[in-house]
Amino acid sequence: MKYEAVIGLEVHTQVRTRSKMFCSCPNRFGAEPNTLVCPVCMGYPGVLPVPNRQAIRQTVVAGLLTNCQIARFSKFDRKSYFYPDMPKNYQISQYDLPFCEHGYVEIGGKGFSGADLPAKKIGITRIHLEEDVAKLNHFPGASGVDYNRAGVPLMETVSEPDMRTPDEAYAYLTALKEIMQYGDISDCDMEKGQMRCDVNISLREAGTEKFGTKIEIKNLNSFRAVHRALEYEIWRQAELLDAGKTLQQETRGWNDDHGETYLMRTKEQAHDYRYFPDPDLMPFVFPAEEIDAIRAQLPELPAAMRERFVRDYELTSYDAEVLTQDRRTAAYFDRAAQLLKTPKLAANWITSELLRELSNAQQHIETCRIAPEQLAALITLIENKTINGKIGKEVFAEMFATGKDPKAIVDAKGLVQLSDAGAVAALVDQAIAANPAQVAQYQAGNPKVLQFFVGQVMKLSKGKANPQLVVELLQQKL
Ligand SMILES: [Zn+2]
Repeated sequence: MKYEAVIGLEVHTQVRTRSKMFCSCPNRFGAEPNTLVCPVCMGYPGVLPVPNRQAIRQTVVAGLLTNCQIARFSKFDRKSYFYPDMPKNYQISQYDLPFCEHGYVEIGGKGFSGADLPAKKIGITRIHLEEDVAKLNHFPGASGVDYNRAGVPLMETVSEPDMRTPDEAYAYLTALKEIMQYGDISDCDMEKGQMRCDVNISLREAGTEKFGTKIEIKNLNSFRAVHRALEYEIWRQAELLDAGKTLQQETRGWNDDHGETYLMRTKEQAHDYRYFPDPDLMPFVFPAEEIDAIRAQLPELPAAMRERFVRDYELTSYDAEVLTQDRRTAAYFDRAAQLLKTPKLAANWITSELLRELSNAQQHIETCRIAPEQLAALITLIENKTINGKIGKEVFAEMFATGKDPKAIVDAKGLVQLSDAGAVAALVDQAIAANPAQVAQYQAGNPKVLQFFVGQVMKLSKGKANPQLVVELLQQKL
């Protein structure tokens, strides 16, 4: 490749809090338009904003999880602009003293296209906190403004221009999302607009240091769209450069249906936001002890958790990957694994049976009727041969539907495995006596018939016979 892409990302993440950033309105998605509003988030004159402590704390958590330095002194500023999504004509944001600066996120593992990405640190320039703006809804002939979103705490994470390929950008976004979810900062549901990203990209001749002309692409609403938009832009800019054209600094949009970017505005139309400190909000001073206290309670991040699962529970890296894709699933497995002699069995049950049943029932693991302790109890019943694996699946299905303890189900239904040699031998004799033709086939040297007899004995025992014992006795008696 003649050119090298230089990519930076700005990611907006809504912080999950009970109330909005500067008022007590609920921070909730999906309500009737303009039902979660008050004079503060509607931007009436004369009102006073009161900062949301939890949102600030969660921003500090995000900063610590991305290896940032946390500002000991910080403040909010007014970003002036005129648009119907912000009726007071300025957005409360942070300018020169954001809460977090100079961090990094590590990427690596499988990239977007499945190929291995080399491990790399992507620098975080800053994370600041601001208020979200209202949502504009466009109808034929008219537009509506929904202020429910206005004032929702919004974190902006700005990366260094450290990414070189669309795959790296995708991996960075994935890592950032995991951090936000594991840190309990945001659910990052992109369909609900809880995570949104803008991309900066320029090309330069491979091997040179100087940055090319920066193009911004706005309003990308999925990681896949980011990847596609970057691939498209690299192609478009390379064509122009090859033709000897000079690129203009501009902002472009992304049309997902056509798979191409389009011009929104050029640099001449760029805003001057005239930031100045918000006189209604006192600056913040963070004592070191307060930051240390938050640091002491930081959650374990998925990368560290995957390593621990592979090391302590002897999982494959694939299983560890699947289980840590969701924080609650990882916690569920972790709890069950701690109770088992062979923790890997919990991984098998969760990644096959449990996740499948949850998806069929359109449920999430949080609302699952089987507690991790109960799953561990079921696996233990199979491990110590109280029941066999096949009966285990039956018991599992009933646990899933009713939430009952596995032991209670096994006792109530009399499912305890039949391991008494005398009793099993009687069933084996019965099966042999009833099928003389198959006995002859077996004795004539067809070993596959053994499976037939195992099936017969299992049927006679109503599925409860110990399968290993059945095989042993059949081999003796045939
Ligand atoms: Zn409000």
